[in-house]
Amino acid sequence: MIRFACDRCGVALKSNDSARFILKIEAYASAGPLAFDREEIERDRSAEMEALIEQLKRTDADQIEDQTYRAMRFDLCRECHREFLADPIGRRHHDGRHDREDES
Ligand SMILES: [Zn+2]
Repeated sequence: MIRFACDRCGVALKSNDSARFILKIEAYASAGPLAFDREEIERDRSAEMEALIEQLKRTDADQIEDQTYRAMRFDLCRECHREFLADPIGRRHHDGRHDREDES
């Protein structure tokens, strides 16, 4: 029999265990549809593109993926599943707002 462990607390779980829950999480950027006018299309962007390519070369691949799309899968025991449902985005452990560069 395939054995599993809760990814949160480590307790042993069996593959057909009714106390084993599978958690799948997707996180992705919420970019809206792109709209360009003729001026935007015709503008020379070669310098911007080169700067972007250089920036991407210096950035870790996982960091780029984290900024666009990330899918995760976890096995949880009954208790960790219950605690996840009670606070799925960790509000209890978050102490306030983040400083954001793009806030005005
Ligand atoms: Zn657990």
